[in-house]
Amino acid sequence: MDITVIDRKAYLDYIPNIPLEIFEGRDPAVTMHMDLVDTLARDDIKFRQAEVLGLDIDAKQVRVRLGAPEYRVGYDYLVIALGSVLAYDDIEGFAEHGYTVSDAYHANRLIEYLKNNYKGGPIAVGSDRFEQGTKGKPDWLPTALAACEGPPVEVSLSLAHWLDEYGKGSAKNITIFTPAELIAEDAGEKVVGQLLEAAGSMDFGYMNKVEGITRLTDQGIEFRDGRKLDAEISIVFPNWKPHDFLKGRPISDEVGFIITDMTMRNPDHPEIFACGDAAAITVPKLGAIGHQECDVVGKQIAKEVGKMSAEKADEPWQPEVICIGDMGGGKAFYIHSNSWFGFGGDTQILEMGRLPYAQKVLYKEMFFRNHGKIPNWGLPASKLLSENIKI
Ligand SMILES: Cc1cc2nc3c(=O)[nH]c(=O)nc-3n(C[C@H](O)[C@H](O)[C@H](O)COP(=O)(O)OP(=O)(O)OC[C@H]3O[C@@H](n4cnc5c(N)ncnc54)[C@H](O)[C@@H]3O)c2cc1C
Repeated sequence: MDITVIDRKAYLDYIPNIPLEIFEGRDPAVTMHMDLVDTLARDDIKFRQAEVLGLDIDAKQVRVRLGAPEYRVGYDYLVIALGSVLAYDDIEGFAEHGYTVSDAYHANRLIEYLKNNYKGGPIAVGSDRFEQGTKGKPDWLPTALAACEGPPVEVSLSLAHWLDEYGKGSAKNITIFTPAELIAEDAGEKVVGQLLEAAGSMDFGYMNKVEGITRLTDQGIEFRDGRKLDAEISIVFPNWKPHDFLKGRPISDEVGFIITDMTMRNPDHPEIFACGDAAAITVPKLGAIGHQECDVVGKQIAKEVGKMSAEKADEPWQPEVICIGDMGGGKAFYIHSNSWFGFGGDTQILEMGRLPYAQKVLYKEMFFRNHGKIPNWGLPASKLLSENIKI
């Protein structure tokens, strides 16, 4: 089988550990980039570093730019795994007054401000409103008002620890905000209740139902519901938007996310798959759910080319939230939940301590050492340990 990966970067950005790296004094540009060329060559997968410009669905071709000319790359099967655009440009005042941690550049910019210029003022951490599509949305998938709220919870907890460690403040300096009724609602009400109780006892501020961000100013944040939050530092997670060239296509919802069924296949173009943040059913926009979907895509294509039985490839699948977030000081929180999705699941587990931290760090080590492959026993072992052993 001839597989080609096209990406504009020749490395994978391991995003989930970026906040942990900066608060522990490492530069994520050095530690969180995994080389793609060598990784893929090990499995005889071709890598082409190029910008994807668009799709010609009828001709079964991807339009790419390699240097100046535009080329077309043909396919039998296409897997759209281009992620989302993090829409900082849509937030008025972000360039002048905003901070974030979604890539090494911004994360370094934040830690440098905290180290060198922070005056001890209030810090706001939270998300802008997520615009989810409705076309083709299955009944089991709720509508999320924020794209991914593990990161604001994680950043708040680990930043509070960092402020304390460096004598610059504590959780009292930080207010967490959300456009939704509850922060991280996809974790389930019970888990969020426990998280809020823990955060409240540490004296974090909390603002819910802010509806979204109107603008950032030198005073802080103005919200869509009319309220304001004073902030010396506004750490913001934006709307997760699809790439422009995916909007208005027959395979996309009205926002531009790719419509798929539970086999991650587009119903009208079964030769096109999507997984990760680019897929409409990936809500919340969580790497763990993207990973589950990649397994599904791999099995479906293996079935098509006669490498896997239909029985195995078509095993039913349901998304679940698995999230491990740093809390600073060698501790982390572990969330395993499926109650938010409309499948009637009742798992809602929250654990906090040293073991989840070790797992967060070890998962990244295993991912890099195994060149992007997590052994089949990795996730079950992680669940077993986190949910049964308290350290
Ligand atoms: C701060 C932060 C912390 C997070 N923590 C967690 C966590 O703890 N656990 C978790 O499960 N999830 C976490 N997430 C979410 C997770 O990072 C994403 O869900 C995940 O990265 C999505 O993977 P993806 O492959 O779909 O997209 P991406 O990781 O965005 O990858 C998309 C790829 O496509 C390439 N690309 C994009 N456009 C083009 C183009 N036009 N041409 C060529 N190449 C292109 C990019 O270079 C990139 O390599 C976090 C997110 C953030 C921002």
